[in-house]
Amino acid sequence: MTTNNLGLYIHIPFCRKKCKYCDFLSFPCTSEQVYREYVTALCMEMDSRREDCESYVIDSVFIGGGTPSLISPEDIRRLMDTVRKDFHLAEDAEITIETNPASITQAKLDAYLASGINRISIGIQSFDNHILRRLGRLHDKNEAFQKIQMVRKSGFTNINIDLMFGIPEQPMKTWLDTIRQGIFLGPQHISLYSLQLEKGTPLYKEVYEDKLFAPTPEILDREMYHEAIRLLRQAGYVHYEISNTAFPGKESKHNLKYWSYDEYLGLGPGASSFFGGQRFKNHEKMNRYIDAIKKHQVPMDQRSIERYSEKEEMGIYVFTGLRKAEGISLDDFRQRFERDLFSVYDPAILRRYKGLLKLSENQLYLTDAGMDVSNTVMAEFV
Ligand code: SF4
Repeated sequence: MTTNNLGLYIHIPFCRKKCKYCDFLSFPCTSEQVYREYVTALCMEMDSRREDCESYVIDSVFIGGGTPSLISPEDIRRLMDTVRKDFHLAEDAEITIETNPASITQAKLDAYLASGINRISIGIQSFDNHILRRLGRLHDKNEAFQKIQMVRKSGFTNINIDLMFGIPEQPMKTWLDTIRQGIFLGPQHISLYSLQLEKGTPLYKEVYEDKLFAPTPEILDREMYHEAIRLLRQAGYVHYEISNTAFPGKESKHNLKYWSYDEYLGLGPGASSFFGGQRFKNHEKMNRYIDAIKKHQVPMDQRSIERYSEKEEMGIYVFTGLRKAEGISLDDFRQRFERDLFSVYDPAILRRYKGLLKLSENQLYLTDAGMDVSNTVMAEFV
């Protein structure tokens, strides 16, 4: 009997070349054969999860990376055929693939649509060529425009673009031009990320060791965020999560699971899961992941299994839920944990964070100003 909903995350850990700011789990690789063998491993991992997922309906699939658009049309079809063979895929499931403009082709877009992929996320980051070069991206502004148009003409009606701000020495004007051009192109969903300079990345070295560029001052970073949100709201986008805006009804079903305490199963090296009441990750190292698959074992890293107390789980619920503009429902909290939220947390928090954290009837949420200091407010609950 199928009862619960589940999100499926499928990790494609390859990129043609590492971007200068990237510390995600991805490796530079251009070998079609490696891609093919890896997709075979993913299909085997799905086969090994078939029984565990018997009682679930998959209502969202997210093929993320890395750069999933490097994978050939045949391999994408194989991946989606295996999803359908091994799991109960809902007819109206949201199925997203992450792409880079440089590797989008018409043949791939046709294969995505033919295999049921109905949402596409494009890593644009900026429409300014200087900024794109600073980030070490493979595309330029013209290619970004051209590929977004190609995606739309192909028939996709649910398109996300990722944009990035707070890039060292990125002027406010350049950022707002990027936002305006994004709005002009009219994707249904726009995500905004403030660049975090991570130690060990080439861009971090250029900024903090070689002093080639100055980091963005915090105050400018926040102004960039608020100005962008203001423009997006004016254009009809709903700011539904700290970093995400969408036309009404086009919010990302899959990403909402991460902020709504819903279950998801991650496939591929390093992929995280919240599944069957457990939080865990797969082996991060590709060779360990492949070894486990070849032995027909679930490639879970046993050391990654997190065992949280009920109080810690409540903290996770509040911490992630407050990322959403609607915040968390007190009724939902009571249903899940059989406790009132304010019997667990001191109601004085509301006074302490006046103007930042609000309670309106049944919903507890962060105000726009609260989103700026979200980590400080959320830390009260963990
Ligand atoms: S495309 Fe994405 S995952 Fe790949 S290197 Fe660039 S930022 Fe990292």
